[in-house]
Amino acid sequence: MSASASDCLFCRIVAGEIPATIVHSNELTVSFRDIHPQAPTHVLVVPRAHHPNAAALAAADPDLLVEVMRAGAAVAEREGVAASGYRLLFNTGRDAGQTVFHAHLHVLGGEPLGGLAQ
Ligand code: IMP
Repeated sequence: MSASASDCLFCRIVAGEIPATIVHSNELTVSFRDIHPQAPTHVLVVPRAHHPNAAALAAADPDLLVEVMRAGAAVAEREGVAASGYRLLFNTGRDAGQTVFHAHLHVLGGEPLGGLAQ
C-alpha cells in the first residue's frame, strides 16, 4: 500500500492537515518531533507514502526504507546527537507497542539511553 490514508494520523501530518514541529523534510520523507518525547531528542521519520509498518515498507519499497534511515541519520546530525550516539527504532506490531500504523522511525538521543527498550 502506498496511497495516503485519510484516517491515518501520520498521513494527515504529511499532508499538513494536522500541525507538527517538522525538523526535516524532502521529497520522500517528513521528520517531526514526537509529542511525548522519551529523550531530549525524539523525532519521528515517516515516509510520505503510507505503509502500515517497517516490515511492510521493507517488503513493498526497500529503497524507501533506506531513504527513511538516511533521513534519520540526517536528523541526528542536525539535532547534534550524531557524535554522542543515538537510537533508531521501529516498533512493529502490538506487542512492540506500535500505536500509529504508518511506518515511522524513532530517532532518540541527547542523553545515555540505557538498555534495549525505549
Ligand atoms: P509507536 O508507539 O512506535 O507507534 O509510536 C507512535 C509515536 O507517535 C508515539 O511516540 C507518540 O508519542 C507519537 N505521536 C502520536 N501522535 C502524535 C502527533 O500528533 N504528533 C507527533 N507525535 C505523535
